Amino acid sequence: MSDFDYDLFVIGAGSGGVRASRVAASHGARVAVAEEHRVGGTCVIRGCVPKKLLVYGAHFAEDLKDARHFGWDVPDCHFDWQRLRDNVLSEVTRLEGLYGQTLDNHKVTVLKTRATVVGPQKVRLADGTELTAERILVATGGWPFVPEFPGSEHAITSNEVFHLDSLPKRVVIAGGGYIANEFAGIFNEFGSKVTIVNRGDAILRGYDEQIRDRLLQISMTKGIEFRFNAPFKSIEKQDDGSLMVHLENCDPIAADALLVATGRVPNTKGLGLEAAGVELDKDGAVKVDDNNQSSVPSIYAVGDVTNRIQLTPVAIREGQAFADSVFGGKPTTVDYANVPSAVFSHPPIGAVGMTEAEARNKLGAVRIYTSDFRAMKNVLAGRNERALYKMVVNAATDQVVGLHMIGPDAPEILQAAAVAVKAGLTKADFDATIALHPSMAEELVLLK
Ligand SMILES: Cc1cc2nc3c(=O)[nH]c(=O)nc-3n(C[C@H](O)[C@H](O)[C@H](O)COP(=O)(O)OP(=O)(O)OC[C@H]3O[C@@H](n4cnc5c(N)ncnc54)[C@H](O)[C@@H]3O)c2cc1C
Repeated sequence: MSDFDYDLFVIGAGSGGVRASRVAASHGARVAVAEEHRVGGTCVIRGCVPKKLLVYGAHFAEDLKDARHFGWDVPDCHFDWQRLRDNVLSEVTRLEGLYGQTLDNHKVTVLKTRATVVGPQKVRLADGTELTAERILVATGGWPFVPEFPGSEHAITSNEVFHLDSLPKRVVIAGGGYIANEFAGIFNEFGSKVTIVNRGDAILRGYDEQIRDRLLQISMTKGIEFRFNAPFKSIEKQDDGSLMVHLENCDPIAADALLVATGRVPNTKGLGLEAAGVELDKDGAVKVDDNNQSSVPSIYAVGDVTNRIQLTPVAIREGQAFADSVFGGKPTTVDYANVPSAVFSHPPIGAVGMTEAEARNKLGAVRIYTSDFRAMKNVLAGRNERALYKMVVNAATDQVVGLHMIGPDAPEILQAAAVAVKAGLTKADFDATIALHPSMAEELVLLK
């Protein structure tokens, strides 16, 4: 019997922490996990899951309009924010219960409290209780970054947006990343007047330029406004409770809500890591090696807190790799090449591998294939919205090194196509595959 209270103490029951806890326990470790908010973490409670449900809810606005072109008599419909919000929140609660059950089933001790690190093998709970563990796993995720400017306290973040009392008639969204663009699409479909405000001059950095341009074009056509190179000056609360948003280089904007989506920072503040000797990088992320081990050998970290790729499936893979390596005798490292990603905008984006610019820089000679088309459904619906698929091919080897898509169901199609990119298949392999007709995905094997 070990001298420690636990073999593993996990801080944070989010995507990475839950996976690591239950897998370590299934390998026979005595595991405790502390969670200061709700079991499930950002993805389940205030991220991917409630966001995607809102995206589905928002899409009905277009589907109901389009349905008329397909022969359905659709009366003018009214959208009820409170009903969708409450249904989404109760689904989140159901999932939270399932995550808790999984941990219970694996005999993981769940402590619903904040925990901090007080030594290489010691943690302290909020009530002062100190516990020891042979190993500690930091899986505390990230936290929305809100820039400081006068009145910034009137802003909300993705933490609060799922709980709004009413649908804002006018919403300003700060940021150009995927969360900003997803919520712009959601609120716009619900009928809010949306303005995206960006301190830089581009949206969705890291995505292929042509795809970003297409989303910008379509978003503007749908009525979303953009202000670029417009840092915040201040926010004033008006007597009627609304906000006046003052920006550099632009006229002020009146709004009922300001959603700040300007990135997420690693959640290490006040965690006691530096005092325990754990090295953090300049952004506060826990520095880890390929085995998720920090500069203190008994302390590990996975997920957003390490600021590698901030996505749920990556956090889950890291949690699994950690538990299998340390407690399962199966040394595993995560392969970060060709991680697919999506933007659940209207229409959505799916991408894997190198953008055209990255490939040109890295490989020199590349071949680019694109298909710019109007989905059959959009044609009949009279919806003048074009999809764009782009394939990036290494000219020397014929290998497909990147796929970038915007259009209906792009993330669903991209997930399957990502297998081919990950497997290193060539353009000739795509060409050899007979099209599945009629589909949008068939464009991928018909690129000329
Ligand atoms: C609005 C939004 C939409 C997103 N959409 C997507 C998407 O579509 N697809 C995707 O792949 N990713 C998405 N993400 C990102 C995804 O949610 C994260 O990458 C993922 O949750 C990271 O998992 P994690 O385990 O590192 O941390 P988290 O899931 O954030 O879990 C960390 C947990 O630690 C707890 N905690 C922190 N400090 C302490 C402490 N001291 N003591 C006890 N508990 C503590 C927190 O309460 C939290 O529950 C989205 C994020 C947001 C905000």
